[in-house]
Amino acid sequence: MPETEKNQNVADFFACNVFNQTIMRERLPKNIFKAVMQTKTFGTALDSTIADVVANAMKDWAIEKGATHYTHWFQPMTGITAEKHDAFISPTSNGMVILEFSGKELIKGEPDASSFPSGGLRATFEARGYTAWDPTSDAFIKDDTLYIPTAFCSYTGEILDKKTPLLRSMEIVNEQALRILRLFGNTRATRVTTTVGAEQEYFLIDKALYDKREDLVITGRTLFGAKPPKGQELEDHYFGNIKQRISNFMKELDEELWKLGVLSKTKHNEAAPAQHELAPVFSTSNIAADHNQLTMELMKKIALKHNLVCLLHEKPFAGVNGSGKHNNWSICSNDGQNLLDPGDTPTENMQFITFLCAIIKAVHENSDLLRLSAASAGNDHRLGANEAPPAIISIFIGEELEAILEALENNTTAQLNSEVKFEIGVDALPSFKKDTTDRNRTSPMAFTGNKFEFRMLGSADSISCTNVIMNTIVADALSKFADELENAKDFNSALKKLLVKTIKEHKCVIFNGNGYSDEWVEEAVAKRGLPNYISTVDCVPKYMAEKNVELFEKFKVYSRTEIASRTEILLDNYSKVINIEALTMIDMAKKQIYPAVMAYTKEVCDTLFSMKSVGIENNAQTKLANRLSVTANSLDDAISSLEQSLLNAKEIDNVFDLSKFYRNDVFAKMQVLRAVADELETIVAEKYWPFPVYADLLFKI
Ligand code: ADP
Ligand code: MG
Repeated sequence: MPETEKNQNVADFFACNVFNQTIMRERLPKNIFKAVMQTKTFGTALDSTIADVVANAMKDWAIEKGATHYTHWFQPMTGITAEKHDAFISPTSNGMVILEFSGKELIKGEPDASSFPSGGLRATFEARGYTAWDPTSDAFIKDDTLYIPTAFCSYTGEILDKKTPLLRSMEIVNEQALRILRLFGNTRATRVTTTVGAEQEYFLIDKALYDKREDLVITGRTLFGAKPPKGQELEDHYFGNIKQRISNFMKELDEELWKLGVLSKTKHNEAAPAQHELAPVFSTSNIAADHNQLTMELMKKIALKHNLVCLLHEKPFAGVNGSGKHNNWSICSNDGQNLLDPGDTPTENMQFITFLCAIIKAVHENSDLLRLSAASAGNDHRLGANEAPPAIISIFIGEELEAILEALENNTTAQLNSEVKFEIGVDALPSFKKDTTDRNRTSPMAFTGNKFEFRMLGSADSISCTNVIMNTIVADALSKFADELENAKDFNSALKKLLVKTIKEHKCVIFNGNGYSDEWVEEAVAKRGLPNYISTVDCVPKYMAEKNVELFEKFKVYSRTEIASRTEILLDNYSKVINIEALTMIDMAKKQIYPAVMAYTKEVCDTLFSMKSVGIENNAQTKLANRLSVTANSLDDAISSLEQSLLNAKEIDNVFDLSKFYRNDVFAKMQVLRAVADELETIVAEKYWPFPVYADLLFKI
């Protein structure tokens, strides 16, 4: 633990590096403070004259805290964050400097944007990109630099980042959810926000061992590695006690996150050896997205201080559970309601059922979008692989809610376990206890009492895309509900009719059973007609389906061009990742594995030769020498075949075809090469094997 905080109460240093509401209240004139708060709460535009005052206060505060630089902090399509630091210094005529930071510099930045992925939106000669201050997310200090959260767009106004669409999508949920609340007679609520708590899984391994593995260093995952004698079958790691070295890391991580105002709350060991999880207290979606980025960044940095490496890859080890990120999502209104809380007064329950039905409809109609929001080369190893949710989107709502919807549909009374009688009709709904059903860990979208947990995201993903999509599709369903209900003569009967129709049309997306089973895949696809997009290259092109373009354009979340660009970026990224992995495999196989096999083969043959020279015939030695030679040949063949496949890839220039080729051809050949190399790992003597094996990586910590 850092010395300074040893005896300090967390409450005393929490958010000490954040220019938050408390600091602003202290340092800004009252009217300016009010204007900023108005923007933060209601997303209203901020008058530019205010920016100068805020900038100055920010600068003074930052300098007092030792900052020398400021940076606009943004989230380009790389999925991670970007920053470019400028010193506060400005020269004076007497050869000295003064420290300056203007409103203009706060509001607008102009990073040279030509090297960020834009999916054809911006040619490199049109390098201009702008970053614009996002006053809804607090500025903070890290490494002596003042970080200003910003949105990023091109010269012509197309969005180039992951934050802008998220903010737009939050706005539309606000508008549409308010319409529904008004229909239920709520006149108090003036703002509805989506909230997110992102649980983050990760691996920690020893830095010295990591450094010896080119695949981990370059690609973040092991491209070779035979199964260790012990994996996670004893289930002794999940929630197990935390080793001292890991605990020291977790403590420092918590403290650094707390200083940045990140509400890091829960930490524990996860299912796989060397795997762990951190969960924050939930916050507004865009803040949650910013904070998840900070969490991932600090995990990596702080691990290094403990001679550890934090692996955020979705599947660092084959045959061992991969890492995901659970996106817990809910909607709340500023009159203090969680709109996904079943609640305990009848009228609120009907409101809850309405939101629930809207979500069920949204998820069913847009399962392609949700699926692709979790698509990446890394996550392809997880989804549908009996450790993570299947690639099929379904919803778990629990038996009790299902019974309630069923009763509503059939105009009967739900028989609930809690024996609460349930009459259909707006006024007659009883309250029902939460958590009366068990959890379902196998569902991609599980209702967990007062929120939905989307469990498909990969550990390295930005949570933005998922939340943009979740917000947009739910807003769309709510808007359709509102359109219908606002014109109804009799609200209650119109509502009931609408809900019954919605349940009938969309209940096939509800599934409370075991999502890992083969029977489910069969049933989902054959009987229920739910799509099963196995890989990234299958689902990403659906982004551009006409219904999706219409949806995003209707709510001005993305234009058609922006969707096309995002599609291209995702597919291009997929191909690049596989290409890098393939090249790394070839390199390791040729320069490390093959020579190791030869060295060992030589030892075996030398021994064999010596034995023969004194008249000893040894079958085992001969067999081993033969097996080594045969497998080395297979290795050589597999390398050549992968090399040829990469050459063939060069001939394809359409991004759709190319990504398919990488998936169907290159990736398949990588599997072959891996299988041969992993077999060799089990026969070559340990002292010859060129890099640490799974048992070392997973258990030597
Ligand atoms: P579990 O692993 O059992 O699902 P955790 O406590 O690890 O539970 O994580 C639950 C996550 O859900 C936390 O990040 C929590 O803050 C978040 N959460 C709780 N309530 C809400 C809500 N209303 N909206 C969004 N997220 C929520
Ligand atoms: Mg958890």
